[in-house]
Amino acid sequence: MYDFLEQSTRLMQQAAELGAIDPAVADLLAAPARVVAFRIPLKMDDGSCRIFEAFRVRYNDALGPTRDGTRISPDLDLEECKALALIMSIKHAAGLIPAGGGKGGIAADPRELSRWEFERLCRAYIRYLRPMGPDYDVPGADIGTDLQSMAWMLDEYEQITGRHAPAAVNDKPTIIGGTLGGYEATGNGVFDVFREAAEESGLEIQGASVALQGFGQVGSVAALCFHEAGCRVVAVSDSRGGVYAEDGLNVPALLEHKRQTGRVAGFPGTTLITNAELLESDCQVLVPAARQGVITEDNAPRIRPRLLVEAANAPTTVEADAILMENGVIVVPDVLANAGSVHLCQMERTQGLCDDYWDLDKVSRLRRERLVGGYRSALNTAARYGVTSARLGAWINALKRIEEAVKTRGWC
Ligand code: NAD
Repeated sequence: MYDFLEQSTRLMQQAAELGAIDPAVADLLAAPARVVAFRIPLKMDDGSCRIFEAFRVRYNDALGPTRDGTRISPDLDLEECKALALIMSIKHAAGLIPAGGGKGGIAADPRELSRWEFERLCRAYIRYLRPMGPDYDVPGADIGTDLQSMAWMLDEYEQITGRHAPAAVNDKPTIIGGTLGGYEATGNGVFDVFREAAEESGLEIQGASVALQGFGQVGSVAALCFHEAGCRVVAVSDSRGGVYAEDGLNVPALLEHKRQTGRVAGFPGTTLITNAELLESDCQVLVPAARQGVITEDNAPRIRPRLLVEAANAPTTVEADAILMENGVIVVPDVLANAGSVHLCQMERTQGLCDDYWDLDKVSRLRRERLVGGYRSALNTAARYGVTSARLGAWINALKRIEEAVKTRGWC
């Protein structure tokens, strides 16, 4: 049985041991600093009332205010939020971002709610959470939330406090203080880091075969980048199944098909495949961009791309990671590959605090530089500690920074 929190904590302990992190600091990071669980009563359109479980985890704020992710999904629980908040702490620290890791959300299925019910739920999340602004904890988007959800959340915060505070909520539309390039940041960033890893490993990008699991915000933007760079996107899936075409898919046409039908299945000229088959398909680059824990010790022996680029958070278990490394698969880990959005959120914050907004060229250039810098730094650290795992390199980099902040503050 896949235990997301146990997996993330074990990875943290592995990196702490290898990186000789002070055991007291590792102990501090074995659990989140603060956890809030609350219940939201929501008036439904038909006059009835439903209660929704909601959460917010602030994992560690030694480097700065906690930030990120509001997930709205039916099976969300506190343990998932804790695991994701730990990963966010590592992602910020490994990317030299002065922030801690936060994650939260609501156990609800947005597809079962009307637009008005969903708006009331997003607003209620802020009223019941009572966030304390940009210098304490800043919610952003995640699965189940989008630009509009974050606009409602920021508006609710500003209505309650009576203050203009664009930096209080991330991932919002540009008209109310969001940053240009925010929506595409993670998908574009996945491609930035892939390109660096491909060059490093001598993989020819032109014509490289790519399979992507997940065709949402991250997967679809990344698929377009691969397509435009001349890669052959041979397989794509969503929660309803996948499609395969050996000669490559026309990604813009597939996007239009998905927009019209709500699924990738049925795209003309393709073979239907399952999500499990997609992961094991014959490709040079595999990009899991959907859920955590999809590559396990059961299927890892049959997963043989040259590069595995983790667009989703924690798609690979600790056991599977070891098998992949043993089989010579180059793993570009989540905390580096999908960090485009955390870099954009940092830029969104800086712009919001100054009320001074940047052009897309500047945002994109900084995103690329910071992502590639994080990847190179992780590889260097891994080499210094005698391993080839960029994942361990990134986690050690992050833990070292958090350790320094914790000690400088005199906490341990
Ligand atoms: P999304 O909701 O826009 O898209 C998710 C996609 O995965 C959809 O195509 C959905 O159909 C598919 N999917 C869902 N369950 C699946 C399953 N069991 N099997 C196969 N496909 C399935 O979400 P997103 O924003 O694209 O996020 C995808 C992943 O990337 C998540 O792990 C998320 O935490 C991570 N991530 C997202 C961002 C971001 O900026 N959105 C940043 C960092 C990491």
